[in-house]
Amino acid sequence: MSDFPRVIEKIDALRAFVSQTRTAGKTIGLVPTMGALHEGHLSLVRRSVEQTDVTIVTVFVNPTQFAPDEDLSAYPRTLDQDLDLLAQAGAAVAFVPSNEEMYPPNCSTTVSPCELSSALEGEFRPTHFGGVLTVVLKLFNICQADMAFFGSKDYQQSLVIQKMVEDLNVPIQIEVCPIVREPDGMAMSSRSVYLSAEEREIALSLKRTIDLAKDQIQQGQRDGFELITEMRQSLIDGGVTSIDYAVVADAKTLETLDPIQLPCVILVAAHVGSTRLIDNCVVE
Ligand code: AMP
Repeated sequence: MSDFPRVIEKIDALRAFVSQTRTAGKTIGLVPTMGALHEGHLSLVRRSVEQTDVTIVTVFVNPTQFAPDEDLSAYPRTLDQDLDLLAQAGAAVAFVPSNEEMYPPNCSTTVSPCELSSALEGEFRPTHFGGVLTVVLKLFNICQADMAFFGSKDYQQSLVIQKMVEDLNVPIQIEVCPIVREPDGMAMSSRSVYLSAEEREIALSLKRTIDLAKDQIQQGQRDGFELITEMRQSLIDGGVTSIDYAVVADAKTLETLDPIQLPCVILVAAHVGSTRLIDNCVVE
């Protein structure tokens, strides 16, 4: 295992590192995370290590993307283990700022997300994307990366970030990487540590429901309303506690499709016990 990553907590120190790196003519890759790292995160880190000279991984549980009733204080924090994993994956720097470092008391400017953010996650977490975009833009400005890597596990987030980059002319290339799954198909999630053994079984119903919808679309199902009704029934039969959404949407605009047209994206968000899980699949 290497000595890497170097842990940096202060913005000034990171800026100095970035400046040296750029002066040396090296490219920078950025992987923003909230820690509690798993193979999904590490796939992004490995991709960044392949594509750029120096990879900065940020580990910051961003308070502004959590609503007051969400799991900010309970969110898993496993920094020592994260640093070991980042060393194995080849990250050069772990940027681990405090809340005060990222949001000093006089910090009040925020990013207003585009229209794509209002449905789906935005309907159930109305302040979420404003918080995500604000922290992501701050991280882009601090790290001055050539490329940033995001997971398609957060499908809507990846679209909203790409739109921000386009609309605000942010000089960075975004790469969206595939969902990494557990052997049984569940999309890897930092929040899966909250699940009991019984809930973990129930959580599989998200992937099962997405597979069912994908099969039906591939067999020619074009009735969006009928398919959504079946998806909701499949989630209920699987034992989820409540459903936020189960939809088939346009892969670019996220408008719900009826009739279904390709390429589309099947998106599901549901609560299993008190844990909220999301999953999706694009059908080309
Ligand atoms: P988070 O720590 O949950 O904010 O996630 C940080 C980044 O990792 C985001 O770009 C996520 O989309 C990505 N990510 C999380 N889970 C997965 C997964 N199972 N597969 C691929 N990427 C993921």
